[in-house]
Amino acid sequence: MVLADAADLCTFVDQSPTPFHVCATVAARLDAAGYVRLNERDEWPGEQGRYYVVRGGSLVAWSTESSSSPQDGFRIVGGHTDSPNLRLKQHHDLTSDGLGVVAMEPYGGAWLNSWLDRDLGIAGRLALRGGEHRLVHIDEPVLRVPQLAIHLSAERKGVELDPQRHVNAIWSTSPGSFMDWVADRAGVAAGDILGFELMAHDTAPSRLTGASSGLVSAPRLDNQVTCFAGVQALLSATPVAGMRPVLALFDHEEVGSTSERGAQSDLLATVLERIVIAAGGSRDDQHRAIAASVCASGDMAHATHPSYADRHEPLHRIAVGGGPVLKVNVNLRYATDSSGAALFARACEQADVPLQRYEHRADLPCGSTIGPLSAARTGILTVDVGAPQLAMHSAREMMGADDVDLYARALAAFLAPASL
Ligand code: ZN
Repeated sequence: MVLADAADLCTFVDQSPTPFHVCATVAARLDAAGYVRLNERDEWPGEQGRYYVVRGGSLVAWSTESSSSPQDGFRIVGGHTDSPNLRLKQHHDLTSDGLGVVAMEPYGGAWLNSWLDRDLGIAGRLALRGGEHRLVHIDEPVLRVPQLAIHLSAERKGVELDPQRHVNAIWSTSPGSFMDWVADRAGVAAGDILGFELMAHDTAPSRLTGASSGLVSAPRLDNQVTCFAGVQALLSATPVAGMRPVLALFDHEEVGSTSERGAQSDLLATVLERIVIAAGGSRDDQHRAIAASVCASGDMAHATHPSYADRHEPLHRIAVGGGPVLKVNVNLRYATDSSGAALFARACEQADVPLQRYEHRADLPCGSTIGPLSAARTGILTVDVGAPQLAMHSAREMMGADDVDLYARALAAFLAPASL
């Protein structure tokens, strides 16, 4: 049985151009499965059930259906909702040689070259005068960052891109107010927009490519694959008695996770504490539940690039289509230790999927992820895992179609282990 279909991943990604939309897309799937959205300002119900909360671009969902004690452990799959992109500056209306140009700024470690010559839409969140937020997803090709013609490049070998000067986008043949245009498309009065987080996205649809449609070409695979596979795993896993499955998706990973809703925030710790309190537990019960908990922190992994195989640790090549990846770093850029490695290896065995083990070359800077941060914040044993992909942080990334389901099946087994 397919838990997570690659074509469905494409739908998920195309519905989710921003972290806020990732939360809305996940929430719609949770709603359809009978999960109840809770407000952090309300008292939470003590009844067993399926619940979730959204804090800005972050979301935590859990099930207590098979839990009978406030001391029961949590089985957590973590991920992040944000991806590198170009975002609109507060004052953004530039005029240049008669063209309407908007000032953009890179978010996270965007590969700037990959944003050139693409037809970009604009999406995000508007804070309106009445106090509410409005999600906007304008999937029209309104923005474009054209690259310099090769004839105007002195050595004809490309231009080093400056994040200040070279990612501004042309949007009109005449100067004007870009926010007026956004307001018109969003159906709100421009004067009512008191705050915004707006970001560009590629309007070309995600699609299956390659012979036999064996590859996925899509933006934001890092890390919407984990958001997608994680929610499919949560919805498919039959909860194990005495265990509470949790899906925790955080915003702001690409910029260090330090915010009120990032992996370094109190979000997950607070939600877990409130689940224990709602179940009638004490502070000691809370600590006992944490001690019985484990987390698989999911983020994408580097598949070996055929043209740059030398960039990989020789015995740790990662195959596209080779299954989920266990990430290990002795300097704790990844949280994995032997206990966590064994837990995830057992989950892969249970799901009957292959497991690949990754270590970064010692002479290249290893990236990091939410695993070590969340582990430090909560005190929960954490293992860093992922699915293989190419072109990480490009505006358009790539992975094997089969890896989507293999990854989801491993996460589902982690959430509902056959044995402890
Ligand atoms: Zn990531």
